[in-house]
Amino acid sequence: MKAAVFKEKNGQLEIVEKPIPEPAKGWVRIKVHSCGVCHSDFVVKSGAFGNPFPRTPGHEVIGVIDKLGDGVDATRFELGKLVGVGWYGGRGENGCGTCDNCREDQWIFCTHSMVCGIHYDGGYAEYMTCPEDALVFVPEGMDPIESAPLLCAGITVYNSFRNLNIKSGSLVGVQGIGGLGHLGIQFVKKMGYEVIAMSGGSGKKELAKELGAAHYVDMSKDYIDEMKKIGSVKCILVTAPNAQNIQGMLESLGINGKLVLLALLPEPFNANAGTLIGGNKSIVGWASGDSRDLHDTLVFAKNNNVKPMVKSFPLEQAREALDNIGDARFRHVIKLQ
Ligand SMILES: [Zn+2]
Ligand SMILES: [Zn+2]
Repeated sequence: MKAAVFKEKNGQLEIVEKPIPEPAKGWVRIKVHSCGVCHSDFVVKSGAFGNPFPRTPGHEVIGVIDKLGDGVDATRFELGKLVGVGWYGGRGENGCGTCDNCREDQWIFCTHSMVCGIHYDGGYAEYMTCPEDALVFVPEGMDPIESAPLLCAGITVYNSFRNLNIKSGSLVGVQGIGGLGHLGIQFVKKMGYEVIAMSGGSGKKELAKELGAAHYVDMSKDYIDEMKKIGSVKCILVTAPNAQNIQGMLESLGINGKLVLLALLPEPFNANAGTLIGGNKSIVGWASGDSRDLHDTLVFAKNNNVKPMVKSFPLEQAREALDNIGDARFRHVIKLQ
């Protein structure tokens, strides 16, 4: 089969020929249809999370079940079924279920949990294998290219926001209109909130409105007052962070407002404790979700017509798809079939 790999730390993606992998006990082989390209794939390139080399990245994988390892229930994991794998890569051969985080039902924080494309080869390849509990079944009728970005970008905005207990009808800011943000505007609007799209300049204003934003705030101007004028903002989803604007966004929130960090900041930030205390405000992070959350993400997206804007590339252009991710409007997807 063909696969794109980082042969060495900080190397470029290269296409190689290698044997089709065999699924281990409790694992499933997938014939990959498509795989979304995510900023976190650069983490694989740098080895920052400790992955070995060579390594095939890719954690927004859509494909069909192709072969089952020993012990996998063939009636549930039917050959030919369309499935997906996201960042949560399963808990390995023997599962877990007993560590503190599993007992709190937080699979993604299981001490045995793996990341697809980091702990094992991911979806920039014609075939891959993963533990059965990493899989989500793709609801009938969903497009396999448009579904791929929902498996990391989509779940990150949907699953974080639905767990925050913000009253529906509230004002919610979505900062950044990129891969995460353009999905965030759609999800939050369709979950029943009034969305303020927040971005620098006015270039994305029309698009933000088309995606469902009721308001648009230009962060290159005095946006704090503008946010306050719109109303009491209960949450801002921070999808394209910049350490410089964290304090400003905190000030933009109304009482009990939550600033939710969904993307990594390259540097530490300063925040004024008085701003937090003075309005019962909080800064929170959220780590994607597991395969059960993926199910809900896909079902919600299907039923409410939430769709990423995508551009597809053949596997041979995987390097181009990744290296030009900054220019994407908004998600690159590698198409393998
Ligand atoms: Zn990702
Ligand atoms: Zn566990």
